[in-house]
Amino acid sequence: MKRKSSKWTCYEVQHSIKEYLTEEMSIEDAAAFVKHVRSCAACREELEEYYAFSSALMQLEALDEGEEKGNFFLNIEKRLEKTELTAIKQRNDHRVRRFVYAVIVLALAAVMGVSMGV
Ligand SMILES: [Zn+2]
Repeated sequence: MKRKSSKWTCYEVQHSIKEYLTEEMSIEDAAAFVKHVRSCAACREELEEYYAFSSALMQLEALDEGEEKGNFFLNIEKRLEKTELTAIKQRNDHRVRRFVYAVIVLALAAVMGVSMGV
C-alpha cells in the first residue's frame, strides 16, 4: 500500500496489520504504524484481535508440524517495542533511546519478579 505521508489513517493501519506482523513493511512504515496504534484505541484493539487470532493459528500449526514456532508471536506489546527500538536505532535519537531503555529495564525487572514468584 502506498502512503502519502507518515501520518496514517485508521483505514490504512487496519489494512496493514498483516503486513506489519509479517514484517513486510519498511521500518519507516512500521514506526508510523506503531505510532498510530499507540494513540488510537480502535486500531490497537483491531491489532490485538488479529494478533491473538493469528497467534493461536500459528500455535495450532506448530502442534500439527511438531515444530517450535512459538517465538514468532511473543506478545503484541513486545512486538510494538521491537519496532520502536528498531526505528529509534535508525534515527539514532539518544534521548528517546535512553527513555526506551529505562522502560525495558523496568519491564525486565517486572518479568523477573514474576518468574521468581515475588
Ligand atoms: Zn486508528
